[in-house]
Amino acid sequence: MNAHVQAPTTVKTTCPYCGVGCGVLATPDGQGGVAIAGDTGHPANFGRLCSKGSALGETVSLDGRLLHPHVDGARTSWEAALGTVAGSLRKIAEQHGPDSIAFYLSGQLLTEDYYVANKLAKGFLGTPHVDTNSRLCMSSAVAAHRRAFGSDTVPGCYEDLDEADVIVLVGSNTAWCHPILFRRMIDARQKRGTKLVVVDPRRTQTGEEADLFLGLEPGTDTALFSGLLVHLAATGAVDARYVADHTSGFDGALERAAAIAPSVAATAAATGLSEADVAAFFALFSGTERVVTAFSQGANQSAQGTDKGNAIINCHLATGRIGRPGAGPFSLTGQPNAMGGREVGGLANMLAAHMHFAPEEVDRVRRFWKAPNIITGEGMKAVALFEAVARGKIKALWVMGTNPIVSMPRADAIRESIKGLDLYVVSEAVADSDTARATGKKTVLLPALAWGEKDGTVTNSERRISRQRAFLKPPGEARADWAIIADVAKRLGHGAAFAYPNAAAIFREHAALSAYENNGTRDFDIGGLADIPDATYAGTLPLQWPLPKRGKAKARLFADGRFYTFDGRARFVAVQAPALAQAVTEAEPFVLNTGRVRDHWHTMTRTGKSQRLSAHRAVPFVEIHPDDAARLGVQEGDLARVSTPHGSAILEAMLTDGVRRGNLFASFHWSDATASDARVGALVRGVPDPVSGQPELKATPAALTPAPYRNRGFLLTRAEYTPPSGWWWARATVEGGSGLQFATQESSRAVALAMRGLFQGLELAEYADHARGHYRCAVYDGARLVACLALAPSAAKPGWEAAKAYFAQAEPEPAARRALLSGRAESASAGPTVCACHGVGLDVITGVIAAGAGSVEAVGAACKAGTNCGSCIPEIRKLLPQVLARNAA
Ligand code: SF4
Repeated sequence: MNAHVQAPTTVKTTCPYCGVGCGVLATPDGQGGVAIAGDTGHPANFGRLCSKGSALGETVSLDGRLLHPHVDGARTSWEAALGTVAGSLRKIAEQHGPDSIAFYLSGQLLTEDYYVANKLAKGFLGTPHVDTNSRLCMSSAVAAHRRAFGSDTVPGCYEDLDEADVIVLVGSNTAWCHPILFRRMIDARQKRGTKLVVVDPRRTQTGEEADLFLGLEPGTDTALFSGLLVHLAATGAVDARYVADHTSGFDGALERAAAIAPSVAATAAATGLSEADVAAFFALFSGTERVVTAFSQGANQSAQGTDKGNAIINCHLATGRIGRPGAGPFSLTGQPNAMGGREVGGLANMLAAHMHFAPEEVDRVRRFWKAPNIITGEGMKAVALFEAVARGKIKALWVMGTNPIVSMPRADAIRESIKGLDLYVVSEAVADSDTARATGKKTVLLPALAWGEKDGTVTNSERRISRQRAFLKPPGEARADWAIIADVAKRLGHGAAFAYPNAAAIFREHAALSAYENNGTRDFDIGGLADIPDATYAGTLPLQWPLPKRGKAKARLFADGRFYTFDGRARFVAVQAPALAQAVTEAEPFVLNTGRVRDHWHTMTRTGKSQRLSAHRAVPFVEIHPDDAARLGVQEGDLARVSTPHGSAILEAMLTDGVRRGNLFASFHWSDATASDARVGALVRGVPDPVSGQPELKATPAALTPAPYRNRGFLLTRAEYTPPSGWWWARATVEGGSGLQFATQESSRAVALAMRGLFQGLELAEYADHARGHYRCAVYDGARLVACLALAPSAAKPGWEAAKAYFAQAEPEPAARRALLSGRAESASAGPTVCACHGVGLDVITGVIAAGAGSVEAVGAACKAGTNCGSCIPEIRKLLPQVLARNAA
């Protein structure tokens, strides 16, 4: 190497997506790009990354970024923008009271950002209305922990998954949503024969891998775990000594459980499972000491989510299987810093540092912060908060790092309500999110740093605090969220309390508050880090809390049987019988479930930039059972309208017996920026859990009807293109440009005319058979292919995989030019992408299996699919028997 060329510096940081919190090595190229690898030294992932983490390098470009402050749509200076925010907040507080101001935060924020926002609102502005999108993610788990343990404590750690003999996954598509943890579970199965039980109404990719799949009826988890508690008691599997010494409330909880599910047969009847499956599960759980029950959004996002969590915890308390290696209930958090938000008190029902609103706690935080306007009670949780916006009770709303106009239930109503706000502030990295597009009477957009630019900490599902470090320069005028908030605080006259020189200073204050007058009375104590010097903070390795000043860090809590209740005993909770918050009706006969796909994150503002990640699921879809589809005359790939009283979306039908008859599943990732008509959040009613306030996102009554269009097609362009209104479309990033799949009622002749108008002055090579409704064109600027389109009647919808490959070549060979026009490009397809890391399509994998690759390993050897991150292995494993059976027939 030339001695004058500096080797690129690799920065250790943390993945910004799910709650696994994988360590990432980022090596910037000095041109704004970055090479990504897994950090072999990070205890969450030991060097592995899933498809989303592996593609992080494709998401850091500056296109689409918000780079300058704007007030009412006009670019302005920071001075003017912050002056507008501070001036308006002061005026609104004076006129309507401070509780007319609300903050809506995000599990994507760093702990330091969260801490400063919470402090400003709850201590200085004096408004309790601070909630976060984590309300939609795991607030029911928080409530269940508090009811059972007296504190929001995740008792276990990831090593428990390595050391368990049975792992029960409840409402968790771990294979897609926490893929690296799922790899650890599969490793445990290979190493020690760990059995996987999956409890989920939908047979997901995780369910496909299960040793025992329990496909229960939606919302009946509490019946299953009530039946289990009764069974444990009836068969002598209860640890009577543990229950007597360390818990209270067992008899009441058992009595209620017996009223809900008194026997195996009653449990089967209440859940829709077979008696044999229920009995097998009960025997496995009761006969195995090392059991981890991991639960996630499927349990939490429910109008009875807190009870579901407590029904699970009851069974672990009854057997004393908590805080021990390989045993315990385990809440898997969805977002990278949902846990950090809980630590600082970024939920409306918390104050700070795991303190709530007992008078002594309020007084303690007031004295620590020297806060002039400390709040004394809970604020409104997300659903109620946005309803208060609609009622006009909230006059000012500051949204940071989240996209509620896509992700909140009844999202259309929320978009409408924003118009009435006197002040609407959005701190965002993205210029054109649906939330940034909305406007109040006064609208301020503040450019925030994105992943790779910001510096601070996040806490993952096992209480491990890791650093997110900056490795890219701040672009444009973007700033750290904490710095923006601190500047507003100064303008409001609170400069001294917000004079932070850097993120390390905020972290020290946060750590000091956690230890303040704690003396072992609160679980969250990181006092050992309260004096951490800047240099040590900069180099801090991942650490698990608690980490008190005196005493040691603990990987597991409650091993000593002492809990954070006043008497030190854990509480059994008598749960309610399961009931769906809303019953289906004749008009809305389906139960609509919503969730994630493997390769996209939330509202796609980052993963949508990656062509690899966009290839797996390129269009918004609805999963429906084949029997229901047949009854409604819907075929695979048809467009269908899914509607509820709150909104509707047009989605592509995917027929699968993975969903139960009468159920639908749709993904919430698509927004108005990425599709014409696919904001699934708008359909969801979102009845809140009465304890946690977490809205039900898994069971909204819905209708489905065919949405026939005359023609379907695709259009590949170098720059993004938005079709005329009336067309259905979905946009995906493709190599070399942007891809649209669309449907239209227009004739092929009209589409041809539109293309000629759009690409006037360029060379159009065209094929048209208007009598049959077929039209194809390729648009050239000299030798350069700038666009290509294929259109056909809906029944003969053209596939785009091969055309995408031709489009990736800027100047296609003559054979490719001919293929684009002849239609051969549509048939010579590799099929939809299965392996995002190596870009291997379904048809290729099917082909190698048909040619003799009889195992996941053999498929990997033949075509590389599944050999990198492994996120696609469940899909390959599912394909194997199907193709082998087809071959044998
Ligand atoms: Fe990121 Fe994937 Fe790890 Fe989650 S599992 S933190 S998305 S790399």
